[in-house]
Amino acid sequence: MNVISTIERPVPFVDLSLQWDQIRGDVMPDLQGLFEASAYCLGPWASAFEKQVADYLGVKHAIAVSSGSAALHVATIAAGIKRGDKVLVPAHTFIGTIWGLLYEGAIPVFCEVEDTTGNIDLADAERRLEKGVKAIIPVHLYGQPADMTKVMAFANRHGLAVIEDAAQAIGACFQNKRIGSFGTMGCFSFYPGKNLGGAGEGGLVVTDDDEKAKLLRSLREHGQTERYVHDRIGYNYRMDGIQALVLGHKLKRLDGWTDQRRAIAARYRGELADTPLRLPDMVHGDHVYHLYVIRTEKRDSLRSFLESCGVQTGLHYPLPLYRQPCLAGITTPPAEGFRITEDWASHGLSLPMFAGMTLAQQDRVIEAIHSFFKVEK
Ligand SMILES: *Cc1c(COP(=O)(O)O)cnc(C)c1O
Repeated sequence: MNVISTIERPVPFVDLSLQWDQIRGDVMPDLQGLFEASAYCLGPWASAFEKQVADYLGVKHAIAVSSGSAALHVATIAAGIKRGDKVLVPAHTFIGTIWGLLYEGAIPVFCEVEDTTGNIDLADAERRLEKGVKAIIPVHLYGQPADMTKVMAFANRHGLAVIEDAAQAIGACFQNKRIGSFGTMGCFSFYPGKNLGGAGEGGLVVTDDDEKAKLLRSLREHGQTERYVHDRIGYNYRMDGIQALVLGHKLKRLDGWTDQRRAIAARYRGELADTPLRLPDMVHGDHVYHLYVIRTEKRDSLRSFLESCGVQTGLHYPLPLYRQPCLAGITTPPAEGFRITEDWASHGLSLPMFAGMTLAQQDRVIEAIHSFFKVEK
């Protein structure tokens, strides 16, 4: 490594300040209005954002909540999933996918994932059907849509509800339709690092079902449909007005940012093709590259090497859900483990990927990877 690159600032895994630079001029005056109106919890900015995002996604109802996990929790309840019910989920995902099930006393039934995408393997899901399975949660992992034609056909054949975990994939389409709009309900996260991220926590549930929308609105706000009349046990899962305001301004720019992510992914694919890395493919519809996850048997040594070159990376996710300590006694881990899930967990490495990443930053990642494999040969 040359002297210049050692004194350069590290290449961050993600840099959110670039988005702020772009939205500052719109957000600051608007924020003033929000403070003057004291519209802190839901309120007019949240209603406007709900309408804007519903139009963007092509759905009838969008219900803004306080996080992606909250979205999945209320969607679980609205899907009628009860204590002891079983739900098919991919074994390789962020644990937020299943918190809602666990809060309700439902049991996740883990399924193997596809080698090509890391998304739920429907052939395996078919094998894991058993009495008490009520729903399936496909996760559009890393920003790549699950095969929603197959998911919906599978669910319809077996009478299952479909809750899409679209936390990583806002804006992605499957056959020209936005993901999140296929299932009974679709759930999104606006955690700051997501493709559409707030200035704090946020989430969203979408549905075309009027009754479910009403129920979801009640669940997120203390179980009330009328003020201080609590029809059911509810939650305080309201979205902050500030988050809605920021998200509204960011949503206008999301497609442009997604194009930038795709350009970065295309460049990684071209420049890393001559290395032994297994690169992500675009298999089902159009990937929005929330994460760019490569796989290699040398994952851990590559990661340390990149760190020493000032290139930050991430692991998504190193421990399959069926081996998480909190699930001991709730679920039975597959006897043999899942070969492909374990492969993603132990060999997957997320490279820097964010809208606004410069060519120079990407060159440093690419050069460091090239020099690692030369060193290793
Ligand atoms: C981020 C994420 C969630 C949870 O969202 P939070 O807003 O962090 O609660 C759920 N599922 C997946 C796949 C995620 O990436």
